[in-house]
Amino acid sequence: MAYDPNNIFAKILRGEIPCIKVFEDDFTLAFLDIMPQAQGHTLVIPKAAAENLFDLDPAMAAALIRTTQKVAKAVKKAVNAEGVMVAQLNGAAAGQSVFHVHFHIIPRQGGIDLNLHARDQVDKDELQVIAEKIKAALG
Ligand code: 5GP
Repeated sequence: MAYDPNNIFAKILRGEIPCIKVFEDDFTLAFLDIMPQAQGHTLVIPKAAAENLFDLDPAMAAALIRTTQKVAKAVKKAVNAEGVMVAQLNGAAAGQSVFHVHFHIIPRQGGIDLNLHARDQVDKDELQVIAEKIKAALG
């Protein structure tokens, strides 16, 4: 399937729709998931157009995992998580719903189940408070 330049994350990259950003560099952007599976659920995307991991240039894949590692560390600190799940879905059969490659950073606390994937939208003010904590942890 050809990359669709009108997917939601492409629109976020072009500034056509807003996001709650926590980090950006020349190659990547990290922002909060608006339907988080846990408090602090963050998405990391490359600025390059790629539908999934297989379409991604290896240099861009390296930049993406570097940012994911850096931001995951800050997310863990910001929400005082016991653990952090990093997930990446390729293809609708794997559960991918936005067709611009991304990593999910999902903080975990023992005994607390995840919210359902891409189900319930959270208040933007609530997300903004968490974003500020993540940005502070990034330094
Ligand atoms: P996927 O199912 O493709 O692995 O994950 C897509 C993620 O994007 C889901 O977790 C979903 O909640 C999130 N999402 C969908 N639309 C938006 C949006 O407009 N803004 C943000 N920040 N996240 C979104």
